[in-house]
Amino acid sequence: MDTLLQNLLKATHSTPRPVDEELIIKSYEFAKLAHTGQKRKSGDEFITHPVAVATHLASWNMDTTTIVAGLLHDTIEDGGATPADLVKEFSEDVASLVDGVTKVSGLHLKGQLESEFVENLRKMILVMASDLRVIMVKLADRYHNLQTLEFLPVEKQHRIAIETLEIYGPIAERLGMGLVKGELEDLAFKFAYPEDYQKLVSQTKKFLTIAGKNSEDFKKDILTLIMPQFPDAQINIRQKHLYSLYRKLQRPEINGDFSKIHDLLAARIIMNSVEGCYQVLGLVHHQFRPVPHLGISDFIASPKPNGYQSIHTKVFSGLGHIVEIQIRTRQMHEQSEMGIAAHWHYSQIKSSGVSNETLDKLSFVQKNKLQWVQQLASWQKEMTDNSEYLQALKFDALSHRIFVLSPTGDVYDLPDGATPIDYAYAVHTELGHQSVGAKINGELVSLDQKLKNGDIVEIILSKKKTKPNAKWLDFVVTHTAKKSISKSLI
Ligand code: MN
Repeated sequence: MDTLLQNLLKATHSTPRPVDEELIIKSYEFAKLAHTGQKRKSGDEFITHPVAVATHLASWNMDTTTIVAGLLHDTIEDGGATPADLVKEFSEDVASLVDGVTKVSGLHLKGQLESEFVENLRKMILVMASDLRVIMVKLADRYHNLQTLEFLPVEKQHRIAIETLEIYGPIAERLGMGLVKGELEDLAFKFAYPEDYQKLVSQTKKFLTIAGKNSEDFKKDILTLIMPQFPDAQINIRQKHLYSLYRKLQRPEINGDFSKIHDLLAARIIMNSVEGCYQVLGLVHHQFRPVPHLGISDFIASPKPNGYQSIHTKVFSGLGHIVEIQIRTRQMHEQSEMGIAAHWHYSQIKSSGVSNETLDKLSFVQKNKLQWVQQLASWQKEMTDNSEYLQALKFDALSHRIFVLSPTGDVYDLPDGATPIDYAYAVHTELGHQSVGAKINGELVSLDQKLKNGDIVEIILSKKKTKPNAKWLDFVVTHTAKKSISKSLI
């Protein structure tokens, strides 16, 4: 048996469900035949690519059908197979997945004209939203293409890298697949902004030579502190992904100042239970003084809308610097690295796409992720105007997000620049309409005040029924708010 195939099968052995090995071998043979004589730009046999894609999918715990679709994903586009062949040899399910991936691959997001770009983007979202497994195969495909991007002409490298940062990274993020997002973005960063990348690599290296040793010492200190009570706890030091560091350095309050970054290295403590997380937090704060104002964020009690859960705190390490500590359970850890792929209950989601009925069956965390996909699909049906759709997509779904809280602790996920009015409409249309004032963290503010991460927002309601103010349209940023305000003004 081929070593390639052997490695793939080995990767499938660690997935939680048994896979159909015979079917995987059959699709490997099919793909190999379809791609006979074809080479990658790297000079490798073409079959190395679908195998790498399928191996990524296996490592993300995908089911047999998705792994098979990974092996076959280029057989229509490059291998001369037809959807009918795939139905005959495999199944409707496999054929429709491969067909979906082929359609998405044919869409180039950097169209010459904006209208072309939008139309392609619209189709892409529609195909992806109809079956989440298409997104998974596409993410794995993009992943391996980025890993071999150096062999492509510079212009193409740049286009693919930018497209990854603008579309695929945010999609992985919204699906809660933190690990995939981080890796895709770091691979793309190098080709999208080569000079900035090199500069940041050398800056980081300098910093790490000092901080790296300190953090190993700090890890030992923490181990000594918690092991007597929690012998099963795990501690590791994680390094922030480069692209995410790059984004953070660009924030106005940081303005490129490396010394203001406190989470380049973070100590991650993985516990067996939620109670354990809070107990360890107590131990840590008792021994290491928390840094005033930088504060602690309890995303266990209030998860981020993409499902992320963890307690973050910043403490003085005792070695003369500030360290971020992240505390979470093992399950939360897996969820944050692999997101939707961590609990891929395929029988529940099926290839029927994301129906309301399906959503009801899923837990809160997964539901949130799927709702986002469903929202994209429904917008695309609602909107006839291309530029309106692109705006909504760019500013609502894929731009950077902030998380704010209602007075009762519900978390709302809003785009950067959102105001109390955007929040009100995100909660409920009527709440938006009746707004006359707002409080942020207990302080009265104007309705156009920009919200910040972690703000608690309270809307002051009019006593009588009112209409929204047309002036709000000047400052709201979410599509939901704009649409509701315009509608009720007609
Ligand atoms: Mn491919």
